[in-house]
Amino acid sequence: MEEMEFTDVVSAPVPPTGTPEQLLRNETDRIRADVLRFTQDMRDATRRLNDTMAQLALREEELARVNERLVDVDQAKTTFVSNIAHEFRNPLQLMLGPLEDGLARAASGVGVQREMLELAHRNALRLLKLVASLRDFSRVDSRQAEATYRPIDLGRFTAELTGQFESACAHCGLALVSDCPPMDEPTYVDPEMWEKIVFNLLSNAFKYTFTGTIRVAVGKADGGTELVVQDTGIGIAADDIGHIFERFYRVKGARGRSIEGSGIGLALTHDLVALHGGSIDVASTPGAGSSFRVRIPLGTAHLPADRISAAPEVTPTAAGAKEYVAEILSWEGHQEEAAEAKTVPGGGEERAAPPVGGQRLRILVAEDNRDMRAYAVRLLEGAGYDVRAVGDGEAALAAAREEPPPDLILIDIVMPKLDGVALLRALRSSPKTEGVLAILVSVRAGADARIQGLDAGADDYIVKPFSSAELLARIAATIR
Ligand code: ATP
Ligand code: MG
Repeated sequence: MEEMEFTDVVSAPVPPTGTPEQLLRNETDRIRADVLRFTQDMRDATRRLNDTMAQLALREEELARVNERLVDVDQAKTTFVSNIAHEFRNPLQLMLGPLEDGLARAASGVGVQREMLELAHRNALRLLKLVASLRDFSRVDSRQAEATYRPIDLGRFTAELTGQFESACAHCGLALVSDCPPMDEPTYVDPEMWEKIVFNLLSNAFKYTFTGTIRVAVGKADGGTELVVQDTGIGIAADDIGHIFERFYRVKGARGRSIEGSGIGLALTHDLVALHGGSIDVASTPGAGSSFRVRIPLGTAHLPADRISAAPEVTPTAAGAKEYVAEILSWEGHQEEAAEAKTVPGGGEERAAPPVGGQRLRILVAEDNRDMRAYAVRLLEGAGYDVRAVGDGEAALAAAREEPPPDLILIDIVMPKLDGVALLRALRSSPKTEGVLAILVSVRAGADARIQGLDAGADDYIVKPFSSAELLARIAATIR
């Protein structure tokens, strides 16, 4: 204690000296200087604050202008998409008419011409469906959806819609169970929208189910009408399930009958259900299957009064179904792989590719898109090659290991089961197949994709779309 007091005394400042008047003057001067400094600081701070406020006001104006422009741009985007969809639709429909005529006339004949017509027809239909989704989407987006809600027996209507998928399912060995009895009370829906809801869910169930059953059921539940579309397909992992209703979301690496798709279907379905005041949810077990459930309230209290019509008039538009059914039928090509994966005799001698040791060169085409595959086979056969085609990477690997091995493999990068790059790696890592020539085919242009392909051991790389002349030239150059 004593030590501390001692230390305090030693460290204390020397007290000021002078007369009391002097001391007072000094103190007054010091305070005046302080006040002056403080006033100056305040003035500076106020000036800075004023500057900042002025800038803020400017920014606010700018922001308002940008916002206005964004609204304009958004509007322009919607109009643009809607216009494009419209502009695409007409020429497509003009194409479809003559194509269907030609198909009818060619019905008796067989051969290339008919195949070509079918190919063009199927793809025109697919484009038409894409355009239709794009259009629906831009409409839902801008809330322009001009729905007309009509009192409809959803049991009967849904059964009719489900019926359109019967032959496709039968063809693929899938059971289709329709549990949609007539209902004693109508549900208010926009028939066209309901059709899209059912078709999207059904086409997904079909796309992601390889064996088993698709079940469609309609019934009453919780004061509303419930639609359940259930499959025994690949299922959806917990990490993905929260995202599948998002626009453009597709489960990575999902195995389906087709890898085609844009991830629009469920997002659109979700929006259409919302336009009915309803809800959609899903339960799924990976490897076991998925079940999508849509609920629509009964009555009309939840709907805008000016969009309700008393007339039921249910007419399932065959055209709408046609787009979906044609699309899923084009996926069925995968079921025919076995039949297609045969050696087919080549074309005329005069166009024959240079024989090696007196034999025609063997080309294996690994391509999952049925139309693309048929196109490549026809082209290469015509050029005198001995062609074999398969629809996925695993089948390609198996075919490459058979005797005699192919001289060259044309590999599509995006394929189910085993993608092109993985297939190439597998080929290169086995002494039996490491020497086979390989050309990668992809839609991805750009140096990166090219380097990745060549890195994996490709002899060449070709980007879709390519002309037939380009493909033949590349193959000839690679062989040389
Ligand atoms: P689109 O419908 O635009 O042609 P898509 O079918 O891939 O393409 P969505 O219908 O939106 O797109 O589905 C999104 C994703 O959800 C799919 O890519 C798929 O991975 C997954 N999915 C949807 N339905 C099922 C199902 N029944 N079983 C398993 N996975 C499904
Ligand atoms: Mg879909």
